[in-house]
Amino acid sequence: MNYLSEYNAGDAYISEYYDAVVDGLKVATSAKGLKQADIAEMTGFGAPKVNKVFKGNQTATADDCRHIARALGCVIRHDPKAKDPREGYKFAYQTESFTALLHRIPEAESFSEACIIAGYEMVVAILNHLGLDAKDYIIDAVNRPRGNKKLFGEGSHDDGLRIMFTHRHVFKDSDSFKFGVMISPKNKKIVFGLWCDSETEYYVGECREALNVPDSEIDEYLRFAKANERWIPRRYRDNIIDALVEQDDDFDNDRELELALETTFQEYCRLIKAEKNIDLADYSMQAIPSTLDLMFSISDPGSFPPEVRAELLNEHDRVCDVDSEHELFDGADDKPYVEVIPVIPLVPEAFSRYGEALKSKANSAVLCPMCAAKLRHGNADVKEEIIYSMYSKYKKHLKDAHMDVQLVELLSWHNTIMR
Ligand SMILES: [Zn+2]
Repeated sequence: MNYLSEYNAGDAYISEYYDAVVDGLKVATSAKGLKQADIAEMTGFGAPKVNKVFKGNQTATADDCRHIARALGCVIRHDPKAKDPREGYKFAYQTESFTALLHRIPEAESFSEACIIAGYEMVVAILNHLGLDAKDYIIDAVNRPRGNKKLFGEGSHDDGLRIMFTHRHVFKDSDSFKFGVMISPKNKKIVFGLWCDSETEYYVGECREALNVPDSEIDEYLRFAKANERWIPRRYRDNIIDALVEQDDDFDNDRELELALETTFQEYCRLIKAEKNIDLADYSMQAIPSTLDLMFSISDPGSFPPEVRAELLNEHDRVCDVDSEHELFDGADDKPYVEVIPVIPLVPEAFSRYGEALKSKANSAVLCPMCAAKLRHGNADVKEEIIYSMYSKYKKHLKDAHMDVQLVELLSWHNTIMR
């Protein structure tokens, strides 16, 4: 069964449970510290439409709903096994990390929940983590209880989960390689590996040779697979090219698990290069940032959005806040050129605490070009001098506007973003 399609809420489902879905979108919006205006901007729907949809004065299409969910960094997921169909939708955050999901599987309330996490969300998380396009891969996410139906309880089977990726455009016939993970959540065991679909033993050997995989590693995996044959099927024993087994303590080191995943994919690329002379190297290892991070990476957190900046500029005297004697040149509008800078930078942490207030006059300072450049490009000491002078001047203003910020937070937010 393909969980990718099964759990992606279709048009019929969304229109039948439309109200519940829109409520969910509203909750997800505020949970992310976003406003309707942000949704309008990210979706391109325009503020009136988003407002009407959220107020229930306009019915969005199923596609619109998915579009809004996408802007929130999630997909609308449908669990057909839910007892109450109204409760049968959830918002799956695509940005949840591979390792976060891994830790969630053993805590899943039901096997069906575990299937959704492993068979759908984790697939997306892995693709995101490796920067891959789902369209390029045949994805085989299997999580079936074998035999015993009793799950996760006493005496239950050790249900292994398996997520395999085969590049769609590289192979023909049966000579394909796949990379993927096999997980036994119950026993905290995970295998990262490359497998060959070819039945020829010779070919498997050739592949191992191409990657210089030591025999000892293969032997170790084969012993492991034999001991775990309840959840590692035979075809993933015989055709192993390279494998990395992590268990118990290793399971607690997230970075190590991520590295193992990245290494596995790099080996996959190396193998394809060696055997097919095809370069899959135009992939990125960048984890997908959250929607808010994306939003802030597009806009410079050290400046206001242009329309806000223009408005604030009109309200300020054109002198540098650090020292009114600082020299200014005439700008394109023939007025003295100054920069209007957010005292508290528009970073996600600050945004989630203070919201839209960050874009108000209370959070703005005026700097001469030199001081603005010092704040952006100076070393720690140079930056601190500017931040400290803005802080002492505006501390009270900020507090009165319910933005009670600590100097140490200000320093850290400015330093982390303005490298
Ligand atoms: Zn200045």
